[in-house]
Amino acid sequence: MNYKIALIRGDGIGPEVVGEAVKVMEAVGEKFGHSFQFVDVLMGGCAIDAVGKSYPDGTAEKCKSCDAVLLGAVGGPKWGHSTNPDKRPETALLSIRKDLGLYANLRPAALRPALADACPLKKETAEKGIDLMMVRELTGGIYFGKRARYQTEDRGEEASDLMAYSQLEIERIGRRAFELARLRRGKVSSVDKANVLETSRLWRQIMHKLAQEYADVEYEDVLVDNAAMQLVRDPGQFDVVVTENMFGDILSDEASMITGSIGLLPSASIGDTAPGLYEPIHGSAPDIAGQDKANPIATILSVAMMFRYSFQLPDEAAAIECAVDAVLAEGWRTADIAKPGETAVGTQKMGELIRAKL
Ligand code: NAD
Repeated sequence: MNYKIALIRGDGIGPEVVGEAVKVMEAVGEKFGHSFQFVDVLMGGCAIDAVGKSYPDGTAEKCKSCDAVLLGAVGGPKWGHSTNPDKRPETALLSIRKDLGLYANLRPAALRPALADACPLKKETAEKGIDLMMVRELTGGIYFGKRARYQTEDRGEEASDLMAYSQLEIERIGRRAFELARLRRGKVSSVDKANVLETSRLWRQIMHKLAQEYADVEYEDVLVDNAAMQLVRDPGQFDVVVTENMFGDILSDEASMITGSIGLLPSASIGDTAPGLYEPIHGSAPDIAGQDKANPIATILSVAMMFRYSFQLPDEAAAIECAVDAVLAEGWRTADIAKPGETAVGTQKMGELIRAKL
């Protein structure tokens, strides 16, 4: 098969980590008989410098003409001060998610066996293993609701943010979660605050209907405060965790911390039609940009997610994941995951080692 992939290399360490991921993709192509056509798409701070806008006209169309999008990271202190949305790199991130209809954010949090001692939890908890998939609703809820600020007569200034969810929004993210669970260990934990919030009561009602439809999948409701606790007490109990936008924002960061390093974690944002967007969870790390110090593993594992979820190529995805684990098992580390006294390799060497394992 031939796949067309949009590359948003972006800013800071983005071009370095995407460069290694592209080479890994090519190695997978050679091994499994696929070819790739890459289309460079300018977005973020580099686009502000080149054309005056972080999200140049035609960006969405360019991406839509591809089968998937790989994003490094955008942003950095150089572009952090403008109040003009066109001159802010984050505008581009929100715009592309909206324009591609990416309503489901998938963030796996897996403790890689060779790095179990990087887990900040108790040894016996880490030993049970952590391998969960956080499925966050990405385009609804309080982040997209009406905002207001007004003066009251007796209580001073007041502000409000509206949290709204429709049946359609809940059902489509719920289906994603149940479908994913079927590809994994067959369990969905739906996180809400149904003891307080009406949006959560609607959320729960729809999830229960889906649970009947997907009777082969184990299902449970978890209140968000309990979910936050369980993630540090016994994360091994979770397989797929599905939740609304704000709860997901917070819980997915908590989940990523328990697995050790930000440089290891991939993510996918998908909608109902191609292309999905795949990116490491980390940012552009301006402090180490251009120094061959960035860990490329999160971006390389994002490519594995692309193979699994956009191209339905689970063997290719597993080959990448196994190659990463094999390199880590041999003790190779980039600076972010090296223990004091351990020698670290650079971005390019790490990429080369992973390709050699493939
Ligand atoms: P960051 O993730 O860029 O960096 C946080 C820390 O982690 C830094 O010390 C950095 O050196 C380290 N780090 C991050 N990725 C690493 C890697 N692959 N290997 C080794 N170390 C790594 O977060 P930040 O410093 O808060 O943000 C920097 C810039 O990135 C900001 O402009 C922010 O807006 C942007 N950002 C972009 C995205 C995105 O493009 N999706 C996401 C988050 C932040």
